[in-house]
Amino acid sequence: MHRTHTCGELRIEHLNKEVTLSGWVQKSRDLGGMTFVDLRDRYGITQLVFNEEVDKELCEKARRLGREFVIKAIGKVIERSNKNPDMPTGEVEIIVNSLEILNESKVPPFTIEEETDGGEELRMKYRYLDLRRAPLKRCLELRHKVSQESRKYLDAQGFLEIETPFLIKSTPEGARDFVVPSRMHQGEFYALPQSPQTFKQLLMVSGYDKYFQVVKCFRDEDLRADRQPEFTQIDCEMSFVEQDDILKTFEGLAKHIFKEIKDVELPEFGLMTYDDAMKNYGTDKPDTRFEMTFVELNDVAQGKGFNVFDSVELVVGICVEGCAGYSRKQLDALTDFVRRPQIGAKGLVYVKYNEDGTFKSSVDKFYDHDALKTWAEKFNAKPGDLILVLAGEANQARKALSELRLEMANQLNLKDPNAFAPLFVVDFPLLDWDEETQRYNAMHHPFTSPKEEDFAKLNSDPGSVKANAYDMVINGVEIAGGSIRIHKKDIQDKMFELLGFTKKEAQKQFGFLLGAFEYGAPPHGGIAFGFDRLVALIGGDETIRDYIAFPKNNAGRDLMLDSPSTISDEQLDELGLNVKELVNQH
Ligand code: ASP
Repeated sequence: MHRTHTCGELRIEHLNKEVTLSGWVQKSRDLGGMTFVDLRDRYGITQLVFNEEVDKELCEKARRLGREFVIKAIGKVIERSNKNPDMPTGEVEIIVNSLEILNESKVPPFTIEEETDGGEELRMKYRYLDLRRAPLKRCLELRHKVSQESRKYLDAQGFLEIETPFLIKSTPEGARDFVVPSRMHQGEFYALPQSPQTFKQLLMVSGYDKYFQVVKCFRDEDLRADRQPEFTQIDCEMSFVEQDDILKTFEGLAKHIFKEIKDVELPEFGLMTYDDAMKNYGTDKPDTRFEMTFVELNDVAQGKGFNVFDSVELVVGICVEGCAGYSRKQLDALTDFVRRPQIGAKGLVYVKYNEDGTFKSSVDKFYDHDALKTWAEKFNAKPGDLILVLAGEANQARKALSELRLEMANQLNLKDPNAFAPLFVVDFPLLDWDEETQRYNAMHHPFTSPKEEDFAKLNSDPGSVKANAYDMVINGVEIAGGSIRIHKKDIQDKMFELLGFTKKEAQKQFGFLLGAFEYGAPPHGGIAFGFDRLVALIGGDETIRDYIAFPKNNAGRDLMLDSPSTISDEQLDELGLNVKELVNQH
């Protein structure tokens, strides 16, 4: 038998028990006549003791144990004289009478403990070693729990978990497809799903009125810090529902998960229109744990001779409570922050509302006390507050101010990790104008239904049409997104037309769905949770990487597998992709 207990299990009540433990040697300390070994497995760490006076040979053997050796030890549970209250097993140790080395280990390239000395790259390369560390183990345990609780909730609500294929044809979610060449049909390709979108809609046509799946999605996008080319969704779809039914059902899912896993009662989810979110927060995923909502100043700031403001579309600012004391240096740093190319503002105007009721601003030349007082009133500012103002093209100014708002929240520690502010952002635009290609893209995806009251505008003013689309946002993170779908063929045809597909192209790419819509498609809609992000949020992290067992790095590489990689000429030949061959043939 390899073990009677795990390394996380033994307590004072096990005193005098003869036990067998197996695990990895985390650390060994040689204190003259005694050798102490920290033995680790998934469940914890237990201290082993070897006493020279009791068994010299055994003690010698213990001294030779290297880090990460796999061993089996048999011994008796005794009370520790030097107890460690920080360890669950810290009251006991095992006085060992038999030791077997099950496997040796090379010296690991970094320390495998709560804290490690390993750099990011090295830990990615030896991910299987990093995963031995307790922090990563806790992340994967949390991930497991969230998926189990999701399944429990959805099962109780009558959802069926149904798998859909990975080798498919393009599903448009706005990214590039990863493609897989077909050997049997040379010159032809499968696409990996960007999401199971079309399949879940087909399942609705088939009558499976509540579907879900915890599923991998693949998107060939330019990588950003918190993106992985493959990621996981809790993908859901329902029939005979309206937007409210979906929101209620999935507010329920989020509440269930937070309650069961964190013992947190999420508050009632707020509802905010996309237009309000953009106007008041400059983003479609506002962090509403703190205020600092936008105030527009065009009416009080323009026409006073300050050129920078007069010529722009929008003058907009935030009021930062209690920061009138910011130094020159701090304000310069904020100006540098908004001028960074990623943010792109030209400059920053500040107004200090001093404790004594006076104002000090960077635009004193153009605005006197009374003028600044009217600004302060618009913000409901109090003496001691700092007003920060940006100006420019409306969307750009809002976007930049949104970044500044988050930066101020960071500086003031307003992002309380124990507070959760959930809401639904609703009424997204249906279409998004792309300057580069001079055409519309679907804001969510091409299967999202326009609001019925906007049908007439589909022809006259498509850009202003709103969609039955919604996002779930918690603490500024887009946790889920979905929509009520189009279920009528004529509207789907119209949508493809707006997106610039010819009838033939639409038929070639989505003929199967358009065909299905001719056989009694029910009204339906759904949502998909970004599972990795949800788990990271619950874990209190901003990055998802530690919550994925084998993630890729920021450049989309798997450093452990060294992938992507080239393939052999034989493989290329088989696939009909050998460029050399192709050149020779022509
Ligand atoms: N397929 C969509 C997505 O991946 C989610 C949905 O509309 O249900 O964002």
